[in-house]
Amino acid sequence: MILKPDTIINKHIGHIITKIEENGFKIVGLKLIRMSRKDAEKFYEVHKERPFYNDLCNYMSSGPVIVGVLEAENAVQKWRDLIGATDPKEAKEGTIRKLYATNKEANAVHGSDSVENAKKEISYFFSERELSSD
Ligand code: ADP
Ligand code: MG
Repeated sequence: MILKPDTIINKHIGHIITKIEENGFKIVGLKLIRMSRKDAEKFYEVHKERPFYNDLCNYMSSGPVIVGVLEAENAVQKWRDLIGATDPKEAKEGTIRKLYATNKEANAVHGSDSVENAKKEISYFFSERELSSD
């Protein structure tokens, strides 16, 4: 997962971490980083043909983010259920994006869309000694 720049600016880090803990995820990795423009381009490479790609890369490298690794049964789906739809206007009541997102781009959090991509994303940001999954 990633807490996006709007979460840090709006001081929602604590609220979202509380949600994560209350919903039974184990936090096995967590750190604050500043993505370079190139980092963001690579991270969102699958979207490079999409009209929002350029703005998204600017946005994700505009300030610090918090990257994290969450462990739970069926974690990818469970996290996506908790964060809600991409556009906060379409997100269900009680979801993180409904509660904390600013708009469709600055939508508070990132979630991997598959186990395969979660593995790639984890290795993009974390070394083995930064993960504590025992
Ligand atoms: P999700 O994060 O829900 O998996 P996508 O993978 O489709 O959504 O898009 C990646 C990110 O790109 C979104 O979280 C959001 O920040 C941004 N984004 C997606 N669609 C749009 C859009 N139509 N306009 C602006 N930003 C968008
Ligand atoms: Mg996605």
